[in-house]
Amino acid sequence: MCNRCPEVGATRRKLVLATAMGALIAAPSLKMAQAQPASAADTPDAALNLLLEGNTRYVANQPRERDFSAGRVARSQGQAPFAAILGCADSRVAPELAFDQGPGDLFVVRVAGNFVTPDGLGSLEYGAAVLGTKLIMVLGHSNCGAVNATVGALQKGNTLPGHIADLVRAMKPAVEPALKQPGDDLPQRAVIANVRANVQLLQEAKPILAEMVSARKVRVVGAVYDLATGKVTLV
Ligand SMILES: [Zn+2]
Repeated sequence: MCNRCPEVGATRRKLVLATAMGALIAAPSLKMAQAQPASAADTPDAALNLLLEGNTRYVANQPRERDFSAGRVARSQGQAPFAAILGCADSRVAPELAFDQGPGDLFVVRVAGNFVTPDGLGSLEYGAAVLGTKLIMVLGHSNCGAVNATVGALQKGNTLPGHIADLVRAMKPAVEPALKQPGDDLPQRAVIANVRANVQLLQEAKPILAEMVSARKVRVVGAVYDLATGKVTLV
């Protein structure tokens, strides 16, 4: 569970999540979810290769031609996304486009600042444990407004309005170490620090992901999308 989120109701939330996952795994409807089409990748490394190959096509502006109506009926019977992405809500970083993937390929969780929330973690657990995603990628990006706002709040001690303050508060522990490192590339260092901290959170998230990671059923990686080039680089 995300240890940076407000503690209020955290225990109850854990119980609700555990109960819900138990129900999901036991529910008859899971049989539907298990009646999936063949996955595009059998291993975490194969899934990562598919993502990176898709990004190469995207950067070269050579995406695959897609017929979105073809396969729509088949997809209605189940899904087997091969990878999950924890990405930023930023309008310029759409995972399906950046990795040149079609409907049913990616299980995407997005929140400004691409950090782990309890609900996001539950979604990623569902993707891995029920839908069979082999890879989870935490995808940050250059010039991230949420990261920059967090850096600003740490440097100036200011408080942002409304619930934006909650978002920044949750991101501070991951971003703060970047402020203590030398160099004039603080915005990018902060983006990378935020990605790496959330990769670690997911790798250690008990009970579901930590177990699947240690059993090598799932791999968690971090990456940064460059807004100017579209290229995704592992970090
Ligand atoms: Zn962002």
